[in-house]
Parts: sequence; C-alpha cells; structure tokens
Amino acid sequence: MSEHISEHIIVCSNTSHMLKGEKVLRKEGIPVRLIPTPKKYGQLCTTSIVIPTELKSSAESILRKEKVKYIGIYKLEPLRVDNLLLNDNNVKEDFANIIRKIESGQDLTLKEVERLLAAENPAEVEVLLSAGDRMRKKAVGDVVEIRGIVEFSNYCRKNCNYCGLRKANNSLKRYRMTPREIVETAVEMRKFGISTVILQSGEDPWYTEEIMVGIIREIKRQTGMRITLSIGERPRWELEAFRKAGANNYLLKIESANRKIFELAHPDDDYDVRVRNIKDLKELGYLTGSGSIVGLPGQRPEHLAEDIMFLKEMGIGMVGIGPFIPARNTPFENMPPGDLLMSLKMVAVARLVLKNVFIPSTTAMATLSPDGQRRGLLSGANVIMVNFTPQNLKKSYEIYSNKAVITLKTAVELIKSTERKLPPYIKEKV
Ligand code: SF4
Repeated sequence: MSEHISEHIIVCSNTSHMLKGEKVLRKEGIPVRLIPTPKKYGQLCTTSIVIPTELKSSAESILRKEKVKYIGIYKLEPLRVDNLLLNDNNVKEDFANIIRKIESGQDLTLKEVERLLAAENPAEVEVLLSAGDRMRKKAVGDVVEIRGIVEFSNYCRKNCNYCGLRKANNSLKRYRMTPREIVETAVEMRKFGISTVILQSGEDPWYTEEIMVGIIREIKRQTGMRITLSIGERPRWELEAFRKAGANNYLLKIESANRKIFELAHPDDDYDVRVRNIKDLKELGYLTGSGSIVGLPGQRPEHLAEDIMFLKEMGIGMVGIGPFIPARNTPFENMPPGDLLMSLKMVAVARLVLKNVFIPSTTAMATLSPDGQRRGLLSGANVIMVNFTPQNLKKSYEIYSNKAVITLKTAVELIKSTERKLPPYIKEKV
C-alpha cells in the first residue's frame, strides 16, 4: 500500500471566506492548496482549502483570529470507489489489477498510467471511461460548473507550430478589446449568474501589467467574480501584481510534459521557463490550471502518461485536455487531428489519478465530434466553458480551424442531456 501524506480540508461558509482564509493562512506560512470541495463535505462553497494535518491547530487559531467563517475542518480521506470492474471478464489481468489499486485508493505508477492509456480492447475502454465517471461522481459530485470565457485579444508574440494565433499567421484578422469592453463582457456574464470569468488572449504585451491590473480590479469591483487568467507566460512580478489585484486562477498549459515534443511544438519557448512559470503560479497562491494537447506529432501513450504524472506532481487544480485540431496557415496544418477516444481516456485517467480537480470537457472535443463534449462529461469531466467573446470577434479567435462555439444555451442543454446538475448560481433566463 502506498503512503499518503495526511491532510485536512477546510470547508468555508462561502467563497469570500474561502478566499480570505486561503490568503491569511498563506501569509502566516501555512502551505495550502485549493481543490473542488469533495461532494461528501457539502457544496456550499465549491472550492476548499487543503492543509497538512500537523498544522491543523495553528490554522484553526489563525482562522478564528481573522474571523474567517468555516463549516468544518475534516480529515481528507483517500478516495475509494468500489466495483469499478463492472464484473467484466474480458479485461486482461494486468489491467484489472490496476483498476483494483484505484478501488482501494492507492497511487499508480507511471507504467500503470501508461497501461491504462494504451487500453484498446473495447471492454477495457468501457471500464476505464466508466471508472473516470464514477470517480468524478465520488470526488466532485454531479454539478457541472459553468465558466464564462472572453477571448479579448488574438495578437500573439509567439509562433507555436500548432496555433492559428501565431505571429507569423498573416491571414488572421487581428483584434484587441478595450479594457472597458472586457469589463462590460464580465458584467454581462454575471447577469446570467456565472461566477468565474476566464480572461484569455494570445501573449499580447499591449496589455501591460498596469492595464491588466486595472481590468482585474474593475471586474472585481463591479461583479465580485472569481477571475481566471489565461494570457500565457508573464514575469513573476506581474503574476504577483495580478494576484494582489484579485486574480484567483491562472491557466498555463504545458501542452506536453515531454521535453522533445514540447520543443517541437513551441519554437519560441523554453521548457524549463514554462515549468518555472507554473511553479511561480502555485507559489503565489493561484489555483493553477494546466493540461495537454492529445495528438501532437510524435506523441505516444507513454508521453501522455508523463503528462498525467506531471500534472499530479505540480499539484494542478484545473486540467484542460483537448485533442489536437489542425489550424490553417500553421506548420502543423496538414497533420491528422488527435483521436477523440484517446482524449476521453486522458480525461478518465486524469480523474482517476488526480481525483479532486476541475476538468473541463473542452471546446476542442466538441469541435472534433458532435458528441465529443457530452462524452467528455461522461468520462470524468465536470466543467463547461461558455464563450462570451463578442459575436463579431469570435471567428477571429482561430486557435484551430472550425472551432465550435459553446453558448450558455448549448451548455445547459448538454448538462441536462447527461442528467447532471446545473450549478445553483446559474440563471437560465435573465
Ligand atoms: S499557443 Fe498561445 S502562445 Fe502559442 S501562438 Fe497560440 S496564443 Fe500564442
């Protein structure tokens, strides 16, 4: 049996107490990480704070002193899910043994993760995807979180070989939204009840530290929303300034944790700098998101297994996995798209290994296949991102070609069709 580090979870009475609690604990030197509140501890606040067990008493006195309201502090038990094998006799013994390890709450090795991802026999694939879904239910419950995204600039200073926003793509009509337009879009989302806004762009230095800080402060002031940034690599001091201004989460994908594949896809990027940036985000107290592209040239199951272990080691709280989709006018435009089934297996394995994390069923899944996003939700995903980029700009945010557009209406219909629950904060009609 592998050893587990003993941890406790603090469930606060609402999001603002959770954010305050996280801040004061961190300030006092308590190592904290944020996870989606496991279903068994209630769903009043969707994100909770995890601390090492030996610091529980110190954390309690800090929270009391700072008047942070919490519902309880509980021992965080390793998640166990029974009967994942579905009594299926057609799975091989080595596969069955790995599933039994998951049932008993043990950690998997790199080789075992690779074996799960290499599953091709239909019985094994069915067991794997259904196990991802069962773990999702146990870890984070039936609610599908809805986030609103605004893609505010498609300018980029880099030349990633797979991405349609790359600087060298002269055929793309470029745009930038003004700070005021960005804030107005967040205000619009809030009217629908959405409580987290994702601000996404290419790496666009036009939005200086000062401009970004202004946007973050104004969104916080007008809406109180949680703010996720997805704006690429930035120096640590800027990340710190954004965090101080009120940004809560940051998405910075590794795309491939395998150094060679990373370098092949990112001619301008340094692997070590990317990893350092992700560590900076963690140290600064962001709920950090990362993830991979499935189907990059040269990628095999063992590389995808490396991605999963990387996300685990880095303590990633939001995991974005999407199939590679070729983009026009890029060096990879004639490459075949990634495989939907492999992307679904990655979602399931990410859920089985990382457990308490947010996993979106990505727009790339919806683009690859009409039921891709639905199948993502049924394989372990628990988040949908709804696109609020102004209508006239959406088409120009062409990170890959023929990108699907997910509206609030399509997201709500999708969630209902999977018999999952809408988040309580969503207003279907305004
Ligand atoms: S992946 Fe990001 S950094 Fe790379 S070209 Fe596209 S927008 Fe720019």
